[in-house]
Amino acid sequence: MEQKEDLSDRIWIEKGDITQLRFKVGAIVNAANSSLMGGGGVDGAIHRAGGPDIIRECSMIIEEDGPCPTGQAVITAAGNLQARFVIHAVGPVWQGGKNNEAQDLTNCYRNSLLISRKYMLRRIAFPNISTGAYKYPKDEAAAIAVHTTIDFLLENEYPLAVIFCCFDDENYNWTKYYLDNYLKQA
Ligand code: ADP
Repeated sequence: MEQKEDLSDRIWIEKGDITQLRFKVGAIVNAANSSLMGGGGVDGAIHRAGGPDIIRECSMIIEEDGPCPTGQAVITAAGNLQARFVIHAVGPVWQGGKNNEAQDLTNCYRNSLLISRKYMLRRIAFPNISTGAYKYPKDEAAAIAVHTTIDFLLENEYPLAVIFCCFDDENYNWTKYYLDNYLKQA
């Protein structure tokens, strides 16, 4: 079998609320929508915990550039969160799988990672983007999250580490399944 690089110290899983991580990170990634104006789920939790500075910066971005397209990501300050930045990534709404959802979700992770590289962030934390209100199947979303991140880390020094912060058991189990599968072969 092909020998794979061991990434076990650069990628791991935490369970729970991404706004209450046990340690500080360079950036928390938000599962945002195109308006960047906050919403329910993890987006609501991030804005509640981070305070009004984040939405103020989001408004300025929208004023200058218009809505953030699906698959893209933008960076703001993190207000009161235990992080320097929030990266707002716009995931796809699940529409059955034939509407470019897989590519859009891949872009979402990749663009967030590219921003992290640009800012030379040491650690960033992702939620399971699109798997709540946007209804992306958790199995397929976890495969994309893990594989896109592994591919990126293998080719890039920054971010030094990526944490998947899984809120619910199903996301936790699928993310762990795909990550363990890779690490087993490393
Ligand atoms: P989307 O609109 O992209 O689907 P949601 O916020 O509705 O975004 O859901 C994305 C995922 O975020 C869901 O699987 C949900 O379990 C998870 N989630 C909700 N609240 C939090 C939180 N505080 N921390 C981490 N993940 C969360």
